[in-house]
Amino acid sequence: MPNLQAIVDEIYARLRPRLGEGKVADYIPQLAHVDPKTFGMAVVTVDGAVHTAGDFDVPFSIQSISKVFTLTLALGKHGETTWNRVGREPSGTAFNSIVQLEQEEGKPRNPFINAGAIAVSDLVLAGHTPREAIGEIVRFVRYLADDESIAIDPAVAKSEEATGYRNFALANFMRSFGKLDHPVEHVLGVYFHHCALAMTCTQLARSGLFLAAGGRIPGTGHTVVSRQRARRINALMLTCGHYDGSGDFAYHVGLPGKSGVGGGILAVAPGRASVAVWSPGLNHNGNSLIGSLALEMLANRTGWSVFE
Ligand code: GLN
Repeated sequence: MPNLQAIVDEIYARLRPRLGEGKVADYIPQLAHVDPKTFGMAVVTVDGAVHTAGDFDVPFSIQSISKVFTLTLALGKHGETTWNRVGREPSGTAFNSIVQLEQEEGKPRNPFINAGAIAVSDLVLAGHTPREAIGEIVRFVRYLADDESIAIDPAVAKSEEATGYRNFALANFMRSFGKLDHPVEHVLGVYFHHCALAMTCTQLARSGLFLAAGGRIPGTGHTVVSRQRARRINALMLTCGHYDGSGDFAYHVGLPGKSGVGGGILAVAPGRASVAVWSPGLNHNGNSLIGSLALEMLANRTGWSVFE
């Protein structure tokens, strides 16, 4: 086993002079308030060791990373019929793009672009009020991370609700094709709230550990999903988790990953570890610039890759 703490420390030391590079997302007004020079990293191994650096203990807005957890819930509720509502192909377009939706009659390309995650929120909402569905999502991540303190930042949810014109457009468009079962306001209420989950790098890495451990939470031994389902979620993260930058992330990092516009990335090294990084400056695809570099350095130094 490589000396992970030394590696994480070295990555932080090397990247420190570059903190502040990239552009903080400001289309959600509340996200623009974050200090662009923050950097946090947490590596949680399947045998329970935790290695951290920087602002690993500061909660940040996980945004689209939450789509991994809602997809897991939707698959648990609806099984393979989930795929009647959302595809499994990379989109080759921006996370909030609307163009494919018209051509493909309201069925989003994959569950990680905004339209796809909105369709997944609609599935999680089945049989629930929005409040219950949001509660279910929060309880699920608390269970995964074994941490009852995880919560939604209501100011972020409100901020996005007030300015999420594109997401309203995407949801209305899907509804016009008969592809949403619930009212747009309800579906987006669920979507905006799960995107507003605030988590620290340590909490996030812990929540993703089941994907590195064949669907089980190593600490408790609980089975979250089958090994096959964990592999499949990882496959989607690898091919679609970074939007139009997914190919580049696979090339440079070689691990399944999911980014969020809050500057976080969750990466999974199957059989080894779950990794969370956070640095708010984004590249042109809306993925953390320094976070991607940190993960590339980690993959290089540990030799972790799904392409062994
Ligand atoms: N809540 C954000 C949005 O809908 C999520 C986008 C992201 O993290 N890429 O725009």
